[in-house]
Amino acid sequence: MARMDVLHAPHGDVALPAFFPDATRAAVRSLDASDLEACGVPGLVVCAFHLARRPGSKAIAAMGGIHRLMGWQRLIISDSGGFQVFSLIRQNPGLGTLTKREAIFRLAEGGKAERLSPEKSIQIQLRLGADILVCLDDCTHPDAPREEQAAAVARTIAWAERCKAEFERGLPRMPGKDRLKAGLQTGDERVGSPAFRRSPPETARPLLFAVIQGGADPELRRLCAKELTAIGFDGYAYGGWPFDSQGRLMADILALTADLMPSDKPRYALGIGNPSALIACARMGYGLFDCALPTRDARRGRLYVLRGDGLDYSRLYIRDAVHRRDPAPLSDTCDCLCCRDYSRAYLHHLFATHDALAWRLATIHNLRFYATLTARLQSPK
Ligand SMILES: [Zn+2]
Repeated sequence: MARMDVLHAPHGDVALPAFFPDATRAAVRSLDASDLEACGVPGLVVCAFHLARRPGSKAIAAMGGIHRLMGWQRLIISDSGGFQVFSLIRQNPGLGTLTKREAIFRLAEGGKAERLSPEKSIQIQLRLGADILVCLDDCTHPDAPREEQAAAVARTIAWAERCKAEFERGLPRMPGKDRLKAGLQTGDERVGSPAFRRSPPETARPLLFAVIQGGADPELRRLCAKELTAIGFDGYAYGGWPFDSQGRLMADILALTADLMPSDKPRYALGIGNPSALIACARMGYGLFDCALPTRDARRGRLYVLRGDGLDYSRLYIRDAVHRRDPAPLSDTCDCLCCRDYSRAYLHHLFATHDALAWRLATIHNLRFYATLTARLQSPK
């Protein structure tokens, strides 16, 4: 299936497929921006919903935007937070309701009622100043009844239209837009890797992506894709939980949805990061991926190692006693800081003594694995 090879965004060009780690609350735990750049990470995903609560989107705008706050020069996608809000409401109906206009919810019993509308979500994301904004969508579980899926699709379409209108209204007033252009001309030149190139300043408009819902129902996916492509967005994402109740990747519906997206726009597989799922989805035409898995696994000592120069990989559990006297690096072929300078025995020891360095080195290795894996999936230059 044909797919885009390069994504152009305000903070640069990214070779696809690309994996963006989750920096939900504006941080990838234990790593700073220079660690992430050294891993070859082309971009990050932050959660607008969490950042709006703390430190607040106006506070971030006052600091010059999310890039300046984080000291990060590459791409940032702001996720709307729809997934968190809708999962919360569906799992605990007592905690919230959905109206035509907005979602009203409490994060805990007796907590303060909060509201999230498509307009508010876009205003927050514009204040953050991300490269890619994502429409607020209604996210369902694939096992949900058809009636609920159909209502979620209708809401997703109506809200996407409102998101686009708000995006177009808010764009000229976006804080930091001039600073962004100036930054691109005189910017920080730490940036530079084969998978990442700066864009010229004229491409400085952020992009707006819509999310295609419809659960496991092909007709609903078709309807959602048709309506959203008619409205017109800069990119499209597969929404909803991508695994069935047995934990199997819903490959048929993912492939169908990829085919429904315009081939000249980036296709984003939201929340997919399991390496085999990523490889399968890249072959379907998806180019953008994000997931909390590699960084969370790293903190638990679950590491990924590529075998040879292909796509085969294995998992390594560094906390296992077998590594206590192992002088070898995690991987002979990995060029990350951890594999270059330290042994498995040392990393095992850092985990055993609960040293913060264990998280940093393990996370650096797993993110380097994803950068290498996605580079191997990219078209030859
Ligand atoms: Zn490594």
